[in-house]
Amino acid sequence: MTATGPGVPRIDTSRPHPARVYDWFLGGKDNYPVDEQLGRQIMAIEPAAARAARANRGFMRRATRLLAEESGIRQFLDIGTGIPTEPNLHQVAQGVAPDARVVYVDNDPIVLAHAGALLRGTPEGVTEYVQADAREPRSILEQAGRILDFDRPVALSLIALLHFVADEDGAHDLVDTLVEALAPGSCLVLSAMTADFEPENVRRSIEAYTAGGVTLVARSQAEMAGFFKGLELVEPGIVCVVDWRPEAGGGGEEPVALYGGVGVKA
Ligand code: SAH
Repeated sequence: MTATGPGVPRIDTSRPHPARVYDWFLGGKDNYPVDEQLGRQIMAIEPAAARAARANRGFMRRATRLLAEESGIRQFLDIGTGIPTEPNLHQVAQGVAPDARVVYVDNDPIVLAHAGALLRGTPEGVTEYVQADAREPRSILEQAGRILDFDRPVALSLIALLHFVADEDGAHDLVDTLVEALAPGSCLVLSAMTADFEPENVRRSIEAYTAGGVTLVARSQAEMAGFFKGLELVEPGIVCVVDWRPEAGGGGEEPVALYGGVGVKA
């Protein structure tokens, strides 16, 4: 796939984009000078930012593996996928269950441009990419419904997504609409930024993102809990991502400014 051609949104290299700054934090190559500049600015404020991005990937891997292994989930809807980073979610899920069906969703044209790497799944399973905005959850449900059976459990992952969507931009509405569509036994996997641990660094990071034209919001543990209403939180609840089931590998490091949690729909 390429980033040009009719109907393909143009990649804007004049301002930073969340997916590309995150890619820079992860040591990826799919970012531009403007993204690196914001990344370096954030690292000067919060030297743990790159570690936070890696810790967040660790949370994604542990949560996905556990849901595939222990909960037997075979369908995954991952919104705010990001630029491909190995192992991607489908590789984790299909590593446990080769027949797992995965739908990826992002609204950034650079993710679309690299989506080819997300589509190389197992022959038994399915991986699909949908270019859509999380703030239009009904459109996502409609498109994902061509691949996923919403009468059976789905793991809905919104990992490091919701801090880019303010409450007034519909963060709660989108989660409620998506969760409402899920069958019993489905799970919500969330991680998002918090200022509960390092308020001053997070405040300055938000300022830097805002100056770059990117919405960034921090949420308290209680605010995070609001996204799980009606769901049953699995152990250990909403905790720093490094403390979420660290025994499953890759966790248990120094804290970072991200909460993670998994809730089950009864
Ligand atoms: N989930 C991945 C990537 C997180 S970076 C991980 O945790 O490793 C956040 C991603 O959310 C970026 O790719 C960004 O493009 C995407 N994103 C931000 N706002 C979005 C929106 N409104 N709709 C869809 N995707 C969005």
